[in-house]
Amino acid sequence: MPVLVINCGSSSIKYKLYGPGAENLLAGGIIDGIGGEQPRHLHAASDQEFEAEIEVRDYRQGVAAIIKALAGWGSPPPIGDPSEIVGVGHRVVHGGDRFSESVVIDSAVIEEVESLGALAPLHNPANLAGIRAAREHLPGALGVAVFDTAFFSTLPPHAYRYAVPERWWRDFGVRRYGFHGISHRYLAERAARLLENPRPNLVTLHLGAGASACAIRDGKAVDTSMGMTPLEGLVMGTRSGDIDPAVVFHLLETGLPASEVRRGLQMEGGLLGLSGISSDFRRVADRARAGDRAAALAVETFAHRVRRYLGAFLVQVAPCDGVVFSGGIGENSDEARHLILSGLETLGLVVDPARNCGEGERRISADTGSVDIWVIPTDEESLIARDTSRLLNDRVS
Ligand code: ADP
Repeated sequence: MPVLVINCGSSSIKYKLYGPGAENLLAGGIIDGIGGEQPRHLHAASDQEFEAEIEVRDYRQGVAAIIKALAGWGSPPPIGDPSEIVGVGHRVVHGGDRFSESVVIDSAVIEEVESLGALAPLHNPANLAGIRAAREHLPGALGVAVFDTAFFSTLPPHAYRYAVPERWWRDFGVRRYGFHGISHRYLAERAARLLENPRPNLVTLHLGAGASACAIRDGKAVDTSMGMTPLEGLVMGTRSGDIDPAVVFHLLETGLPASEVRRGLQMEGGLLGLSGISSDFRRVADRARAGDRAAALAVETFAHRVRRYLGAFLVQVAPCDGVVFSGGIGENSDEARHLILSGLETLGLVVDPARNCGEGERRISADTGSVDIWVIPTDEESLIARDTSRLLNDRVS
């Protein structure tokens, strides 16, 4: 009874196919460049890898190509017929106030996700296109929406409200929603197992092209660095993260068009803005090591901002059981982890340098530290598959 997980981005569809109970991964891949000059399809199944240039103009055609590949590529292909796929789990970025957990998709859910498009104009429409395509091409499969915001439904009002006029919240939905929730929930659940503590107090750090921190008390999210949109918080690849909002008025009043201010904060800020080199941490860090001062400042500012949130969140989850690093930077850069964690021994955070330089899921704290520090590679798709499988089972029983 395979379950398909679909993650539609602004011009790509990532997917994974899981076997019964969402236990084992059968196949996966990506179609990128959708709507562009030359879309590509990368697919892996049965220990084989495939790459093809394909004609895909939209998500509808993309999902059709994925289903065709799952039933046709590999020897044998992971499924004999598309009708074998019993569930499709979709990552949906914005669930607003409405969705506090994963739900079976019906037309009411589709309408609500559509209405939340104004809050996530880059993401929700793409997610919806994937949902519609899957309903069309796999009419017998149960669709499940797993929301990036849902994990933060436990945030108390003092963490999700901004200190702005109350009517902004009431009339325009101005509040902190949080994002990367699927990843933070995966990390929280995984850490609970590793720490053998069902309801741990944690700070989870998802540090990738997008980056966010989450404070978790008794296994539940109590604060997060991202806000009404993913722009707030940490320094990211191209996003500025926190900034004094008066900077925006200053620039507008100086005559910069709003579109340019928006582009500067979302696409030209972050590591790219500070370094002038790249949004890619690895490249920026390489240049910093080679003596480039702007690159060094970008790395230092990135680490400084993470430390600022780490400190703030340690206070909220005291006594903290664990700090978790994840995302492309958090998982792979011992240098970033070293910069973020140095000098925090008096807070109980003691890094073991040899463990820090290792690979894969592991504890990197020294045995003398009172707070466990872990690197946990995130796996959002497996969590989406598990939720889909669970809702499928609920239907059957
Ligand atoms: P996304 O948010 O797109 O999923 P990722 O989680 O893949 O992003 O993270 C991408 C970031 O991880 C990039 O900035 C990249 O440079 C960084 N990264 C990946 N591998 C390494 C590495 N070995 N050392 C340092 N940074 C790395």
